[in-house]
Amino acid sequence: MERFLVPRKPPTTRAETADNPPPKEKRKKTVSRQYHESYLSYGFSWTGDVNHPQPECVVCREKLANANMVPSKLKRHLETKHPFHVQRNLAYFKRARDLNQRQQDR
Ligand SMILES: [Zn+2]
Repeated sequence: MERFLVPRKPPTTRAETADNPPPKEKRKKTVSRQYHESYLSYGFSWTGDVNHPQPECVVCREKLANANMVPSKLKRHLETKHPFHVQRNLAYFKRARDLNQRQQDR
């Protein structure tokens, strides 16, 4: 009776077999997202490694994961955490970023 209760093993995927390497598309997931200057309009600068930048909020200086380096996630942070700053223009965020950098250099 017990052997009927043993859960079925998931089917072996192609990636798991040694003589069948995973297709190249699957490896793309590990590619780190790059910062784009336009993200500053969402209130985000970047920090960390050039090849693996982390988005950093210029308002609260919170660092997000590299996976969040997309306009929709950055915008969501701004809208949910800093609704007051949504109306701010790019010049404001530039000033805030420069101010943060100057403080870091000290
Ligand atoms: Zn923030």
